Amino acid sequence: MTNRVVLIGHPVAHSFSGGMQQAAFDALEIDARYELWDRRPLDLADAIAELRGDDFLGANITIPHKEHVVPLVDKLSEEAQAIGAVNVIARDGKKLIGHNTDVAGFKSALDKIVGRQKMPRHAIVLGAGGAARAVVYALITEGFQRVVVFNRHLHRAEGMVRHFGRSASHMDLRAMPWHNSVLEAELAKTKLLVNATSIGTVPTETPIPAELLPSDLLVMDLVYNPPQSQLLRDAAAARCTTQNGEHMLLQQGARSFELWTGKAAPLDVMQAELDRAREQGLRQMPIDFGPAGETRQAAGS
Ligand code: NDP
Repeated sequence: MTNRVVLIGHPVAHSFSGGMQQAAFDALEIDARYELWDRRPLDLADAIAELRGDDFLGANITIPHKEHVVPLVDKLSEEAQAIGAVNVIARDGKKLIGHNTDVAGFKSALDKIVGRQKMPRHAIVLGAGGAARAVVYALITEGFQRVVVFNRHLHRAEGMVRHFGRSASHMDLRAMPWHNSVLEAELAKTKLLVNATSIGTVPTETPIPAELLPSDLLVMDLVYNPPQSQLLRDAAAARCTTQNGEHMLLQQGARSFELWTGKAAPLDVMQAELDRAREQGLRQMPIDFGPAGETRQAAGS
């Protein structure tokens, strides 16, 4: 029986996870197929119920389902529980366990961009979705002293700050309204800017006007497709140090692979597939649109 692992999101066509995970299964001769399931929020519960079939090793969960999936699994890892978001489901016998490997992926990416410099203590995070929750939790546990969250819908950022109230009681974690003047004042006080919104997936859109970016900032954009978002291009022009989401993708994906298979992930194979996808475009993988019954070839990019 060929085992199955699925990516559940809406949309899923942009994701590099399929090619990366399939390359890892193939390299280790694991009989498993990675599938792309595009599911609307209304169809999420049915998709999770389907994962209970014996042929499934688990799933990745992506935009916009990471928080909504929490009550649909049987148990949460300590980290997923603390964050309130799940990006990986693995099985423990018949039970579906929700994990969050975005935290470890982000911490690895943070270490990489900081390099030999001193770890900063102040950060700005843009976004309040599942990815932003993982980022904020990583910054809290990394010992940051002040983290300011901006989000298009302020109430969502405020909800996230409340969620982390106890784990962030030793530090200054706050949500602020997304106005340029407020952003500018906060940018002057910070060393690290993390874009955890999906704005950069549209190549010409940016969350921050270029003229607000000071130099010497560390700027991370979790978006990896396109590899250079407008924010990263503007930040590089302002002489900031920049990093896109590819390293985080690789590291969270490696941990996902290990949870499904119990084997060490072949990082070099996965990185080679990411290099290939970045240069030549996505592998053509069918997308399953679920109850709509429609299966289309992914357009690739
Ligand atoms: P969610 O759907 O949970 O959250 C999306 C976030 O983006 C929200 O904060 C939302 O704001 C904001 N947003 C979306 N569109 C706009 C817009 N037009 N203007 C302003 N804000 C906007 O998604 P995730 O948190 O799961 O993912 C966010 C991004 O991070 C995605 O692009 C995803 O691909 C990337 N990502 C990358 C990873 C990696 O490994 N590199 C890992 C995880 C995510 P609001 O709440 O106001 O709607």
